[in-house]
Amino acid sequence: MAIRYIDQIDLKGKRVLIRVDFNVSLDENKNITDDIRVTSVLPTITYALNNDAKVILMSHLGRPKGAVNPALSLLPVANHLSAVLKKSVLLAPDCVGPDVETMVSAMKPQDLLLLENIRFHAEEEKNDREFARKLARLADVYINDAFATAHRAHASNAAIIEFVGEYGAGFLMKNEIEYLRKAMENPDRPLVAIVGGAKVSGKLGTLENLIRKVDKLIIGGGMAFTFLKARGVDVGSSLVEDELIETALRIMDSACKRKVKLYLPVDCVAAEKLEAGAVTVTTPIQELPAGWMGLDIGPATETLFAEVLRDAKTIVWNGPMGVFEMDAFSNGTRSILTAVAESPALTIVGGGDTNVAVYKWNAADRISYISTGGGAFIEMLEGKTLPAIKALEGAG
Ligand code: AMP
Repeated sequence: MAIRYIDQIDLKGKRVLIRVDFNVSLDENKNITDDIRVTSVLPTITYALNNDAKVILMSHLGRPKGAVNPALSLLPVANHLSAVLKKSVLLAPDCVGPDVETMVSAMKPQDLLLLENIRFHAEEEKNDREFARKLARLADVYINDAFATAHRAHASNAAIIEFVGEYGAGFLMKNEIEYLRKAMENPDRPLVAIVGGAKVSGKLGTLENLIRKVDKLIIGGGMAFTFLKARGVDVGSSLVEDELIETALRIMDSACKRKVKLYLPVDCVAAEKLEAGAVTVTTPIQELPAGWMGLDIGPATETLFAEVLRDAKTIVWNGPMGVFEMDAFSNGTRSILTAVAESPALTIVGGGDTNVAVYKWNAADRISYISTGGGAFIEMLEGKTLPAIKALEGAG
């Protein structure tokens, strides 16, 4: 069944329960350090308010592991949201139960209520039907706009569907689904994927699926060294997963058979130790001094990768090209970011570290779409249908 979206559902006067992902980071004074998770769902919240809904928001925050933990209360988010929307936002003392139901029944159209952290209940992460039924008692309409949690089947995004009359997805979810499906199922070609980050093991499914879809695959970051070693290159003490050498060979073989052009780094910035202030050398990978480790792609690779991206019509990127957290090993990621940002292609970037790089170097407004999902984005690249999306399709 096709997913319904919030703008296809009549919300007027109804209790609209929206699952959002307000899992923000807080500093020691409980200030939100990055409010992207809040701003990214504002279109959905504002739409519901403007359509005279009684808006009830629910989210998790952190990992309270099923117990009430005041340090993980959503109060800072309620306050922040209130400041952003210039509107009163009430925080319920819990997310289910008679007190919350009384609060909800007192709501008027355009009121906004935030439920307390749903993970204070262990049943949430167990996808418990009884708990989902209790949440559903608060809703005439259920909307899921929490893409970053969509790869988990939890009560608030999976089991709940069975108990709500009308349901659909919000605008953030719509964007995530449409951009990623466009890129993976119906891309303008050439489709180029850039995959980086630490390990092959974390992105094995992604690489295996991408090989079936893309025209070119660029591999950078620590994971490139397992591929280089598989090709017989001496990579010194660079990060290598020896148990995945065979897998790397299989992926390269599959690329070859499918005529996917696969690119690996040709040079790197290396150090003897991974530490700030370490002496570095820029070297062709095959000239890497014994015992040194590659910690970023080098300038020749930056040029190579930028050239590979030049004719791309669609680019999907996950994972940094080096240890970009340290200045000495950040040039590679920055230069690929520049190439992606300057590309006229449809550009889709996602994953925690990659997004950090995009914002750190102020490229957000030059990327077509920045996914809010980490694990969820990776699983979409793996070609999986995420449990929460399946549930919205009525097939949960
Ligand atoms: P991931 O979560 O798999 O995307 O990995 C991101 C991490 O990979 C970042 O923290 C980077 O510092 C790290 N990384 C990138 N390139 C390398 C490398 N050549 N050696 C070691 N770690 C790396």
